[in-house]
Amino acid sequence: MTARDPRYDVLFEPVRIGPVTARNRFFQVPHCNGMGHRYPRAMAAMRGVKAEGGWAVVATEEVEVDWHSDISPYIEGQLWDDRDIAYHAAMVEAVHAHGSLAAIEPVHQGLACANLTSREHVLGPSGGAILQGHPVTARAMDRQDIRTARRRHRDFALRAVEAGYDIVYVYAGHNLSLAMHFLLPRYNQRDDEYGGPLENRVRFLRELLEDTRDAVGDRCAVALRLAVDELRGPDGLQSDGEMRDVVGMLAELPDLWDVNVSDWSNDSQTARFAEEGYQEPYIGFVKALTTKPVVGVGRYTSPDRMVALVEKGVLDFIGAARPSIADPFLPQKIADGRIEDIRECIGCNICVSGDMTMTPIRCTQNPTMAEEWRKGWHPERIAPAASADPVLVVGAGPAGLECARALGQRGYPVVLAEAGDALGGRSKAEARLPGLASYGRVADWRIQQLHGLANVEVYRASDLGAADVLEFGAPHIVLATGATWRRDGGGRSHRGGLPIDADVPVFTPDDVMAGRLPDGGRVLLFDDDPYYMGGVVAEALARAGCAVTLLTPAAVVSPWTVNTLEQGRIQARLLDLGVVLLTGRNPVSLGPVVRHACVYTGAEAETACDALALVTGRVPRDGLYRALCDAAGDGPVPWRSLHVIGDAAAPGTLAAAVYAGHARARAHDAAPADGPPFLRELCF
Ligand code: ADP
Ligand code: SF4
Repeated sequence: MTARDPRYDVLFEPVRIGPVTARNRFFQVPHCNGMGHRYPRAMAAMRGVKAEGGWAVVATEEVEVDWHSDISPYIEGQLWDDRDIAYHAAMVEAVHAHGSLAAIEPVHQGLACANLTSREHVLGPSGGAILQGHPVTARAMDRQDIRTARRRHRDFALRAVEAGYDIVYVYAGHNLSLAMHFLLPRYNQRDDEYGGPLENRVRFLRELLEDTRDAVGDRCAVALRLAVDELRGPDGLQSDGEMRDVVGMLAELPDLWDVNVSDWSNDSQTARFAEEGYQEPYIGFVKALTTKPVVGVGRYTSPDRMVALVEKGVLDFIGAARPSIADPFLPQKIADGRIEDIRECIGCNICVSGDMTMTPIRCTQNPTMAEEWRKGWHPERIAPAASADPVLVVGAGPAGLECARALGQRGYPVVLAEAGDALGGRSKAEARLPGLASYGRVADWRIQQLHGLANVEVYRASDLGAADVLEFGAPHIVLATGATWRRDGGGRSHRGGLPIDADVPVFTPDDVMAGRLPDGGRVLLFDDDPYYMGGVVAEALARAGCAVTLLTPAAVVSPWTVNTLEQGRIQARLLDLGVVLLTGRNPVSLGPVVRHACVYTGAEAETACDALALVTGRVPRDGLYRALCDAAGDGPVPWRSLHVIGDAAAPGTLAAAVYAGHARARAHDAAPADGPPFLRELCF
């Protein structure tokens, strides 16, 4: 192990937060994870691993204060009454076991929840439509409601103390908090002491801070998580406007300031739309107005950048949600002088999609995320090899690279064969598309790790056929040969494909990634894929000078990206680039004149084009697998195991390919489970 670079010593200084002290400057800010109160053991184990990895403060997700802040169907924490204390105590214990501080973020979501489970009224500073898309109207809080909300928040803080937390937050961020709704004139039209001038709109937030301080005494620190800008100009909170006054008014009241931009899609911007450190212009002013420590986020993965933030007096703590998900051991790796081992977040927001789809979090870079308890997977440790038998892995995309890396980490002799001259498969190919350069990190980290594994041999330019594989004679074979985008228009809408007039050139994402583009002119892009590829290819073609019309049966462009908080930005970018959007339409025939029909009425129309771009479906590149199965016939097979994984088994996300590679490596030499391959958290 190498020693820590002294340049980074400042990151490992202890920092006082009111009555408690953090052992270093690495702070895992609250983040949702799709586990919360529904999968509490899994959630606690995941937080414990963060503490083990060196994060000095590890916070919960949003934790509902009471049943008036019922965020269902989203899965967050709950501390509604004393019965919830035990599961929180388990999380605190997991964090304390590694010498870190545990923080809890209470939330009353005000206008942002729908109370679908509790069936209580939604409460807001004033009435009106709630912020979720449910047919629900909020009730304006009267003074009794405000007193009750304050009392419940105070009771929450007392329970948090009992659970053992070290830091109790007050939350006014992301447009997901009643206290923030009180701050905002667009939601607060009250004419009493809680509405009107800023001092009045701040009152509820100030009271929550005072109540929390009063409840926790000197047993816990009190943190304030505050949105200081909404990136919507004078219609919202502004860091160069009223928010300076708010920070000035409350400057010394909390023990810690945790500041960010709202809403969540602004706070957690993807790499496609924002660089590392994108929040600095908004949060930079806070430290000048308070003597208390300040934490902020910005997808920080570079230790030099972190040091600069501290030295320039921008932040005292390096806050992270996503970098701590992609690599829970990021601080430890800096401490050990292993910078090159840091698995950098790629800024794709697949982690967010867990919360948005109400399922346990997953991460493209870290396949062990949320599997710590239910599968016993640790991000750094893995079972040693159970034999010395070699494994042949074919294909060095994300699935093959991760499989070879994890098998190599276990100690197996591995041969990784790749048809191309370069490693990386789709990770490197997609990285050539606009805004997706960081996706190449998926391959980069794995290639870098392979350099340190003498037991893994890598062969490039090795396009293996069945005869080659058989001749090689490995007892264990893993095929990770990827997938190909369809050229026949086949996908969700036209499973068998569509007739295409031969007079028009056809381009698929594989062409565009390889640099084969139409020579300008009018391109009709048929996007039948719900995720990002259609929008990215449209962007690439528009930037290359094509006049692009994007036709999709969906109501919006790249609809699934609502789960990665990108959809609005993608639509805006395409409109800004002059891409014509034909939504709610499906092609009937494809050619120099594309006939298309409305998905609701069937009414037809025509659009002329010089080229077609088809982003429809993908088919597994599984010819090698089928050839090997055919060669074996019904007789005894010459191998002990043969598996097809990743996109070659079933095309999916980058995250799914990495996960598949990792899961195969973990399962190697293990008896197959006859039942669910993970622990479940059952109530009975
Ligand atoms: P995944 O996402 O499942 O990892 P990719 O498409 O990213 O899939 O990567 C698959 C990789 O497999 C590509 O780099 C491709 O060149 C390689 N490949 C495909 N067929 C063969 C083969 N027969 N022999 C060696 N490599 C192959
Ligand atoms: Fe980063 Fe993507 Fe992992 Fe989220 S899923 S932590 S954005 S790599």
